[in-house]
Amino acid sequence: MVDRYRNGRIFLVGDAAHVHSPAEGEGMQTGIQDAYNLGWEIASALRGAPDMLLDTYEDERLPIARQLLESTSARSQAFMRPSSITQTVTNVTTSKDAFADTTQLSIHYRGSTLACDLDEATIIRAGDRAPDAPGLHASNGMQVRLFDVFRGTHFTLLVFGCQLTLQLPDVPNDFLRIYTIVRPGERIAASDGALIDTSGHAHHTYGITNEALILVRPDGYIGLTGGSLDSDPIIDYLRGTTGR
Ligand SMILES: Cc1cc2nc3c(=O)[nH]c(=O)nc-3n(C[C@H](O)[C@H](O)[C@H](O)COP(=O)(O)OP(=O)(O)OC[C@H]3O[C@@H](n4cnc5c(N)ncnc54)[C@H](O)[C@@H]3O)c2cc1C
Repeated sequence: MVDRYRNGRIFLVGDAAHVHSPAEGEGMQTGIQDAYNLGWEIASALRGAPDMLLDTYEDERLPIARQLLESTSARSQAFMRPSSITQTVTNVTTSKDAFADTTQLSIHYRGSTLACDLDEATIIRAGDRAPDAPGLHASNGMQVRLFDVFRGTHFTLLVFGCQLTLQLPDVPNDFLRIYTIVRPGERIAASDGALIDTSGHAHHTYGITNEALILVRPDGYIGLTGGSLDSDPIIDYLRGTTGR
């Protein structure tokens, strides 16, 4: 693998950055995730985001490739050893290495400069992949899931709680979308963005016991978490990250 993912205006993605044994069948997945991590950052940079946003691509993705290479190399060598098929399969299925999760759903960017936890209000942490939650109902009765609202190139702000105290400047819909998520029976002023968490899945999955804000990046990872419905940290985060 390369030792840098970026050199000025040149970025390496996929097999151009890391080539490995197909032992775990993860090369394509990793390359697509590289590109997905970088895509929104290039789009933001073209609209004036600070240059440091582009540096986070290497910071977040290079360690993932390094771990993957260690894991796939170890697994390839295991396949080559003259052991029984049963033993090989047992080794693979009981492995505790970082890529035992071949779905890669547990990959996270906690500790990244783009990950900001304002407090301990949520179990889910900034840098985690924002999980799905089915069973939400919009004010018009339509059933939606969180993956529906994340889909696209925008940031998504999930406001858990019924106090609509957020004062965010008017921003285009293709930059930031805001959804207020309430439990059944909670009263909320009329809002197009209100979603009723009928099954409680969203509160449970995100580990929300009271109020909280979750800001989801365009690539579906969590940028910011916080337990107070205060707009300033959101404005600061978006301004610092994208310049908008
Ligand atoms: C046997 C095998 C099984 C695999 N199984 C899996 C699997 O199950 N799951 C999985 O996730 N991954 C798997 N992989 C890995 C996966 O195929 C690669 O990681 C993935 O294809 C890499 O995509 P890429 O776009 O980065 O590079 P590539 O697919 O190599 O694409 C690069 C492209 O650039 C072109 N190109 C090169 N030089 C130039 C040039 N100078 N000008 C213009 N074009 C150029 C090439 O022709 C090629 O089309 C497997 C790989 C192998 C070999």
